[in-house]
Parts: sequence; C-alpha cells; structure tokens
Amino acid sequence: MKISLEEMAQKISVANSFIITVHVNPDGDALGSALGLKFILEGMGKEAKVVIDDKWDKNFSILSGIESVINLQENPEEKFKADYVILLDASIDRCGKVIENCPDMKVLNIDHHVSNDDKADFLYLDADAPATAEIIYRLAKVLKVEFNTEIAVNLYTGMATDTGFFRYSNTKPYTMIAAAEMMEAGAKPNKISEALEVKSYETIKGLAAAMQTIEISENGKVAGVYLPYEIVKDLDTTEGFIDQVRIIEGVDVAVLMKEKEPNLCRVSMRSKETNVSAIAQSLGGGGHIRAAGATIELPLDEAKKKLLEVINEALV
Ligand code: AMP
Ligand code: MN
Ligand code: MN
Repeated sequence: MKISLEEMAQKISVANSFIITVHVNPDGDALGSALGLKFILEGMGKEAKVVIDDKWDKNFSILSGIESVINLQENPEEKFKADYVILLDASIDRCGKVIENCPDMKVLNIDHHVSNDDKADFLYLDADAPATAEIIYRLAKVLKVEFNTEIAVNLYTGMATDTGFFRYSNTKPYTMIAAAEMMEAGAKPNKISEALEVKSYETIKGLAAAMQTIEISENGKVAGVYLPYEIVKDLDTTEGFIDQVRIIEGVDVAVLMKEKEPNLCRVSMRSKETNVSAIAQSLGGGGHIRAAGATIELPLDEAKKKLLEVINEALV
C-alpha cells in the first residue's frame, strides 16, 4: 500500500527497532541508503541492523558502518526480530531471503524504481528521485535529524553512484543541494570517488578481455559486451564496464551481458533515449527508464538473441 513520506516518517518515529535490507548484488545507493538510515535511526535512539542476502564489493569499505552489515549468506538460518523491516532501493522480490527470516514483521519499503511491484505492507515510491539515498535525505529532514559524517558519507555515496557522479539526466538541482549539504556534514567527494573507482590490475586486464567481445547491432544504436562463463568466472567485478560501452558514438542502448552460471545470464542496460526499464520488465527484471537489468535463464547465445529481439522492438 502506497503512503506518503510523512506517513512513513510517522511509522518510523513511533517504533524502536528495525532490520534494514536492500536488493541482492548491492550497489552504492543500496548500501549508502541502508547505512545512512541506520545512523539516522541510531541518532534517534533506536536500534537498527543492516542485513543483506549477498556479499558486496570491497570498494565499499569507505562507507561508515560497512563492517556492521550482516551477510545472511554466512548464516542463512539466522532469524531476526524487530518492530519493522525497512526495505530500500528494491521491491520485495529482489531482497533474497531476508524478509522470510524476519517472521511476522511488517515491511516498510522506500524506493525509486518505476518497476516497484507495491507488494510491501507500506510503500513510499518516488520514481522521479534519482537515488533512494536522496529520499532518505528528505526523510531525515522530516524526522528533524541533524546530519553527521557517518550519515553524510553514506547518503552522498548513494546519490553520487546512482547519478553517475551527478552527470546522468536523473540529476536534479535538488540532488546537488542535498549532496552539497552532505559535503558540509563531512562527506569528501574525492576520497569517496577514489575509493569507489579503484580497480585491481587483474580487473583492468579483465576489462580488456571483456571489451574484445564488443558487438554493435541495430545500425549502431545498440552496443554490447556479451561475456561467456569462461571469462566471467575469472573476473572479480564488472562494475563500470558498461560505462565504456555507453560512451560509443551513436549508441542509444548499451548492454552488458554476463553468463554468471552456465545457462544463467545477468543483463544490465543503459540508454540515452529508449525505455530500458520496459525492456527489462518484459524479461522479468526492472529498473529505471535509462538504467535497468534482468536475469535470463538461458545460455549466452540464446539470451543474447532474445534480448536483441526485445530491444529491436523497443528502440525509439
Ligand atoms: P544494474 O545494471 O545492475 O546497475 O541495474 C540498473 C538499474 O536497474 C538499477 O537501478 C537496478 O536496481 C535495476 N535493476 C537491475 N536488475 C533488476 C531486476 N532484476 N529487477 C528490478 N530492477 C533491476
Ligand atoms: Mn540499487
Ligand atoms: Mn537506487
């Protein structure tokens, strides 16, 4: 059921303990929103634990509080008890088993994905917000919380990562005002971007191998790297690879397809014009108009063929 941000703030302010969770394969916005909110709640004298059903990239060690995050996969049977589960940056179907392991708890969901399925008990959705972290910033204002460095580092990271460091079309004047306030509260943009961008020598070699697979299709409007399992199994991360594809001149839709396991492909898309969220939703995934993803249960060649068919129909 959809509620306003004020109603969400009201529910939070009268409760005492929270489990905060986010989508699997957590990105900067998921982790930054979760940890930012944890510090906001703790500042209000409440208890909050972040639990994620996945591991995260070591580049996120810059985030205050990251060492306190519980990876459910390390102890899959662990059950949690609190007044509410707060699910950020995703719908219920993308958070793995965390909600199952929080028996009888109501779910408060805060998100900015147009594709949110509204299945949580209470949902505040703002599909125009560039990042969930920007919504958490607004929530902190409603809750009249003062920002400190811990909150600032996390919310800045969330806003920065989902806006491509304030370059994508989702960036608003308000986002920059919020980010500036996070800087005033102690976030250091240079330190954060250095920490997030650093890559190992092996990963850069992996990037070179990945770029060898690049293919242009649909008259140059689509460019993709399609990585077979043999390449994927040796990569630590593919974070940022798609950014090399999306800058090719004339390309509207950029694709990164990874065969994560034989017969299971994970696809990421970025676009300049075409609605890639609609494409991702037709493949069982979701996302935003210009950044979306899905998982396709097919071998790489077949998944690629299916994806290109759907993209071809959707191209503007
Ligand atoms: P990614 O390509 O993984 O960076 O994802 C791009 C955007 O689409 C992010 O906002 C994701 O949260 C969203 N997204 C990716 N995969 C899915 C999915 N299977 N379902 C819903 N949203 C997704
Ligand atoms: Mn996310
Ligand atoms: Mn997000």
